[in-house]
Amino acid sequence: MTAILEVKAASAAYGQIQALRDVNLDVYEGEVVALIGSNGAGKSTLLKTISGIIRPTNGEIRFNGAPIHQEQTHVIVKSGLVHVPEGRAILKRMTIEDNLLTGGMYASKHDTPHLLAHVYDIFPLLRDRRQHPAGTLSGGQQQMLAIARGLMAQPKLLMLDEPSLGLAPLVIKEIFGLIQTLKASGMTILLVEQNARQALRIADRGYVIENGGIKLADRANALLHNDMILQAYLGGA
Ligand code: ATP
Repeated sequence: MTAILEVKAASAAYGQIQALRDVNLDVYEGEVVALIGSNGAGKSTLLKTISGIIRPTNGEIRFNGAPIHQEQTHVIVKSGLVHVPEGRAILKRMTIEDNLLTGGMYASKHDTPHLLAHVYDIFPLLRDRRQHPAGTLSGGQQQMLAIARGLMAQPKLLMLDEPSLGLAPLVIKEIFGLIQTLKASGMTILLVEQNARQALRIADRGYVIENGGIKLADRANALLHNDMILQAYLGGA
């Protein structure tokens, strides 16, 4: 079986700063893959490079077998590779429904009502509040909206950048519960998290990134019991 996403020896830089070095990473259909690493390790840069926001300086990225590392972001989104960025990027003055519609802008007009209904079934609260400005939602609800907007783009692969960032423990639990539900529905997910333990508990496999390079790749369960990972990323517990 070939991977739905193949990152091969990808490097990226911000001017003189090398942010990714020779990164190799694969995601197979139906998997949840966690990408963990400390602040500044290169996690967001890797997602941005995959989604075409940053051009790799070297290497190759393939999605569904086709090279995408020279493609424009909108072409990549349309092909089913959807990035929910860190910080959510919600349009706070726009209504919740209009935020969702921006996510569905590449779907055919005919499909939009079905897509909206599907997303509202997963997130009933968003249906109830659909005419309210998105800025009236709590942080956790805005994160839900960001993920819901991603789903409107009909992802074949959903990349989530730090969905639990800045949220209270109970809300984090809800977000991970949602990711679990998406996983159970067969969604393929590449999950970037500082919250390494919870991410690895939900994931099938994990990659550890340090200083722009992949340090370790393994089954998530093996990483959860790896002494080095325990000490460095899981608080030694
Ligand atoms: P965090 O969890 O803090 O977001 P991260 O693992 O996602 O960390 P990146 O944001 O990918 O890390 O950053 C990787 C490296 O690239 C860091 O050294 C960072 O300072 C640098 N960097 C990130 N964005 C830029 C930018 N726009 N210009 C210059 N350097 C950048």
